[in-house]
Amino acid sequence: MQFEPVIGLEVHAQLKTKTKIFCSCSTEFGKSPNANTCPVCTGMPGMLPVLNEQAVSFAIKAALATHCRINTESRFDRKNYFYPDLPKGYQISQYAFPIAEHGFLDIHTPNTGAKKIGITRIHMEEDAGKLIHDPARSVSMVDLNRTGVPLIEIVSEPDIRTAQEAGAYLRKLHAILKYIDVCDGNMEEGSFRCDANISIRPVGQKEFGIRTELKNLNSFKHVEKAILYEIQRQTYVIEEGNTIVQETRLWDPSRNKTVSMRGKEDAHDYRYFPDPDLVPLIVDDAWIQSIKATLPELPEARQARFVKEYDLTPTDAATLTSSIELADFFEQTASPLGDKKQAANWVMTTFLGMLNAQGITIDQSPIRASAFSKLLKLLEDHKINANAAKIVFDEMLSSAKDPETIVKEKQLEQVSDSFELEEMVKETIKENPQEAQAYKDGKTKLFSFFMGQIMKKTRGKADPKIVTQLLNKNL
Ligand code: ADP
Ligand code: MG
Ligand code: ZN
Repeated sequence: MQFEPVIGLEVHAQLKTKTKIFCSCSTEFGKSPNANTCPVCTGMPGMLPVLNEQAVSFAIKAALATHCRINTESRFDRKNYFYPDLPKGYQISQYAFPIAEHGFLDIHTPNTGAKKIGITRIHMEEDAGKLIHDPARSVSMVDLNRTGVPLIEIVSEPDIRTAQEAGAYLRKLHAILKYIDVCDGNMEEGSFRCDANISIRPVGQKEFGIRTELKNLNSFKHVEKAILYEIQRQTYVIEEGNTIVQETRLWDPSRNKTVSMRGKEDAHDYRYFPDPDLVPLIVDDAWIQSIKATLPELPEARQARFVKEYDLTPTDAATLTSSIELADFFEQTASPLGDKKQAANWVMTTFLGMLNAQGITIDQSPIRASAFSKLLKLLEDHKINANAAKIVFDEMLSSAKDPETIVKEKQLEQVSDSFELEEMVKETIKENPQEAQAYKDGKTKLFSFFMGQIMKKTRGKADPKIVTQLLNKNL
């Protein structure tokens, strides 16, 4: 029997506010445990939450960027559960009336092409604290710095069918939240985290199968791997004649498998009810419009503009707009240059290749866009050739010198003096009469032999275009 996977994703994104969602404690990451706390976020009796307006603005901005409908009235509910990282015994969240609903995201994958993934809802909630287990002393400690940090939860429709689509959806959502500057997107610090719901059903069946929910997915790669694993596991269980247990499972990256964590709770287990401490949240149209006016150019619009303005292919434009940092880096590099395509190629191959090889981000790159642009300008003006540009690039990684200085110091100026090069070409042909004759007799492969000889003589600095012309003329 053939099975079809059905996948829905829940993303928790931390909003970039300076203070928490219901109190004025700082949201700064990495402070000493419990430094960022007060009676409100530690759940002392009698304390009242006061909603952070900036958090609401950010949630609305995220909703607009994902084509959601904003609910002019939404409510906060208490989601009750007991756990030591949750001092109140409930989490303030939105249940029956979320801030936004009915959105979508456009994704594109190599295997299934363009597709719309529905967004069911976006709601606002507070984060819980963090437990630190110390097995050596057999104690657990609690850090409430994260308690009350504002989150939005973005819930997708079960429209995703492959691990690749799930990866594309998450990358797109991550990019959008960073473009609109409402979330720092730092997955290691937990600012963007994903739970994946997965089920399988026989191809052609309408009803969904029983799902499992995967937690602890803190990288795009983990999400894709965990989903692939879970699809295989569920297929095996069903083919063996057993049934899937609805449960929460954890991805264990060290063993490359998912393991059962606990039975999955249903909504009624949380005994949701409206939080009596908070009034309904009313969002008027003027507020929505004023936020709409602050929306920047989003990835798709920027991609389309790159195609039009710089004559790039849609694929290259998609790569270059996949993150706001990369899109900015490319535009800063290309803006003083005439040859935008050459700039795009160098950013995508040499620059991105370097980031990959070193395992660093654009922010950590020792080469800034302004310096990279200067290097490409030398190439564009035929002051150096591509070979030399690579040498200069490598040097720029370890020295703060600007490209022109490096070119001078290493004597990498391109030899493009036609007279000088023609003398060299004639000389080389004279030195290699057999090869020259063989070339004339049709062994055209020998062209590169002569090119190599000239490059050797100029220590790689000859302008290959001019040498090609001169070899054609003299051979
Ligand atoms: P919760 O997980 O909090 O109980 P929901 O019922 O809203 O919440 O579902 C969460 C996610 O699970 C959504 O993204 C939804 O698309 C997805 N989902 C629901 N049913 C299935 C299913 N049978 N298979 C796969 N995903 C599902
Ligand atoms: Mg869930
Ligand atoms: Zn507080």
